[in-house]
Amino acid sequence: AFVVRHRMKKCGRWARAMAIVKEFEEKCGTPTGKLKQVADAMTVEMHAGLASEGGSKLKMLITFVDNLPTGNEEGLFYALDLGGTNFRVLRVQLGGKDGGLVNQEFAEVSIPPNLMIGTSEELFNYIAGELAKFVAQEGQDFQLPPGRQRELGFTFSFPVMQSSIASGNLIRWTKGFSIDDAVGQDIVAELTRAMERQGLDMHVSALVNDTVGTLAGGRHSNQDVIAAVILGTGTNAAYVERAQAIPKWHGLLPQSGEMVINMEWGNFRSSHLPLTDYDLALDAESLNPGEQIFEKIISGMYLGEIVRRVLCKLAEEASFFGDTIPPKLKVPFILRTPDMSAMHHDSSADLCVVGNKLKSILEISDTSLKVRVVVVELCNIVATRGARLAAAGILGILKKLGRDTIRDGESQRSVIGMDGGLYEHYIEYRKCMENTLKELLGEDVSESIMVEHSNDGSGIGAALLAASHSQYRDGY
Ligand code: BGC
Ligand code: MG
Repeated sequence: AFVVRHRMKKCGRWARAMAIVKEFEEKCGTPTGKLKQVADAMTVEMHAGLASEGGSKLKMLITFVDNLPTGNEEGLFYALDLGGTNFRVLRVQLGGKDGGLVNQEFAEVSIPPNLMIGTSEELFNYIAGELAKFVAQEGQDFQLPPGRQRELGFTFSFPVMQSSIASGNLIRWTKGFSIDDAVGQDIVAELTRAMERQGLDMHVSALVNDTVGTLAGGRHSNQDVIAAVILGTGTNAAYVERAQAIPKWHGLLPQSGEMVINMEWGNFRSSHLPLTDYDLALDAESLNPGEQIFEKIISGMYLGEIVRRVLCKLAEEASFFGDTIPPKLKVPFILRTPDMSAMHHDSSADLCVVGNKLKSILEISDTSLKVRVVVVELCNIVATRGARLAAAGILGILKKLGRDTIRDGESQRSVIGMDGGLYEHYIEYRKCMENTLKELLGEDVSESIMVEHSNDGSGIGAALLAASHSQYRDGY
């Protein structure tokens, strides 16, 4: 009798676990119709954000970039790229017309986690210090004309209200950053003061978001690039808008007739988004509750955390990992998206990668194959929802630009420059995103639309924009 009862109990638990998974899967559903609604909502919000300041959750920030690189940029320029888990410094020697990228060098430094939540002065001192070390290593391959100050393009991957190409105030932090005294400050002034404290003589010539840098870098190598999307720790998009289509812009119309817009789409929100209780709890407990909702369901900082939350529920309500709840499972952000990706891509018959990850990260040993299969399924549900929503966002941009259909039988080529660790390394996510975009556009249109990996475009793009906005630019 005991054996029978025990087995029934186990059966009951498993059925309960399956019910939880099934409900989660349903709530995460992204059928084509829903994605089209999301895309339409994105287009509507884009219009609203362009119409007036504060008109939408989409900030649609004016970047002051009204000209993208042409290939004529020339000289030695530096770039600094801050915004994820690492920051990068680079120097490039640009060869001018037909010269291309003559030389480039870079260094990558991880940001000590305590600096992400400390003071502005501490963060910028650290960055300026690392930059100064890098500049000190400049060799003979790089040349600065005598009497000139070194110039820098600063890629700063957070929402900034710009007042010119080289100044702007931080609206708020996103991702893992939270440094109160920097909010509202001019980020270029903060960096410049820190460089002065380090005795580093350098001029910031351009302040750009990473999406804008990626767009500029992408355009440099391909003139058909019209938008850039970052899928990394956070997510965002920038695109080239007609200046006439920006009612909130009261400045002079740029000669090019164009203006790059930093959408800050991570903050997009719509009743059409498939949000679950896990997402709402994640949001409520995050550093920025109520903000960056789109980002919280599609970007790298959060995907692993969503999976952890579902596993926790399974452990608590269906004894999924046995009679006790594995303590490590309770630790927020312990399951990182790269680990989730590794589990998702496990192609071994016994899912040994999943088994090893569960053991090494969550200290859950001896998992059955059945359990591992469910873990992979959860990774798939979360990654699929994120990737499909990212595709819907891109469709929203194409719609805004009227590039989602073939007009007058004429097909204009549109290239979207993509970057970010999630896009680069999470292959299933990337494949799903690309396939979904094709599905949404239909075969004919999707032939003229390409997504292209713009490898570290954001740093190079910032250097290119520093060059085209150089304080000596009239000298060329
Ligand atoms: C930031 C954006 C940035 C994106 C990708 C978001 O959290 O708000 O400015 O472009 O992350 O790095
Ligand atoms: Mg980056």
